[in-house]
Amino acid sequence: MTDVVGTGSTGQFTGRVAVITGGARGQGRSHAVELARQGADIALVDRCADLDTVSYPLATADDLAETVRLVEAEGRRCMSAVADVRDLDAMIGFVDGVVAALGSVDIMIANAGISTLGSIFELDAAGWSETVDTNLTGVFNALRAAAPHMRRQRRGRMITISSMMGRSANPLIPAYCAAKWGVIGLTKSVAHDMAHSGVTVNAVAPGNISTDMIHNDMLYRLMRPDLEHPTRDEVAAVMATLHVQPVPWLEAEEITAAVVFLCSEGARHITGSVIDVDAGASARFTA
Ligand code: NDP
Repeated sequence: MTDVVGTGSTGQFTGRVAVITGGARGQGRSHAVELARQGADIALVDRCADLDTVSYPLATADDLAETVRLVEAEGRRCMSAVADVRDLDAMIGFVDGVVAALGSVDIMIANAGISTLGSIFELDAAGWSETVDTNLTGVFNALRAAAPHMRRQRRGRMITISSMMGRSANPLIPAYCAAKWGVIGLTKSVAHDMAHSGVTVNAVAPGNISTDMIHNDMLYRLMRPDLEHPTRDEVAAVMATLHVQPVPWLEAEEITAAVVFLCSEGARHITGSVIDVDAGASARFTA
């Protein structure tokens, strides 16, 4: 666990503490660095290990250390722990420790997630449960750990990361879709519960985001089954068909922009909402 004294300049989140699950790399890292740049102290959780049911490499301890380094380079304090969002006791212990060390938990970003493949004919018990346990129960555990502190503080922002696949259906990734739909139901329900405590609870639903979750052989072969070793360029056109705007993927920083907005003072009366950052994909399936 790292804990250094911050010396950073002031920003809209100065004096605030943000906890980010899955913060070792990808979107979680982007959120961590930007919130730190805007003044927040940061606490990161990541499991830092591969899973048998996930056929692309997950984050490492070196990835987590690099996010800590980037946050500290912004002059903010950063705590980190190797922990599993599927473990409620571990999440409660970590968040309690953050409050003890840094003073509060003002922002909880339940971002950790995995992507697993397998139709109803292929998915086994482990593939189903590891996906739902990580992508849905892990979000519950993060919110559950932060809720008592935010209620006592009478302020807070909870942000969950769903997906355009939490608003639509895909027969190749039913467990992922089911969990991400569940995240939206959970988010809206918790928004009710926290509404009288000055805490907002919202989801962001990203489209394809340019991280290791999509840039891997497993997904490339799924997109281009006609090719043995499809390249990034060869999958781009197929990835773009999932969006309405003609772009194959967005950058993590574009999700961070929505997260920062939801954390801002201007978003204090937005709760129970889903912000789609998906190059228009939701135009096909949401009212
Ligand atoms: P990454 O794979 O780069 O990041 C996900 C992070 O979550 C990794 O660091 C991973 O590392 C961590 N994580 C996974 N399982 C656990 C666990 N049980 N406990 C703690 N940490 C865990 O992908 P993204 O940054 O793209 O994904 C961020 C979120 O965005 C996810 O919820 C994802 O489902 C969602 N999303 C992504 C999209 C995309 O196209 N990339 C599209 C829509 C939504 P490790 O397993 O080693 O801990």
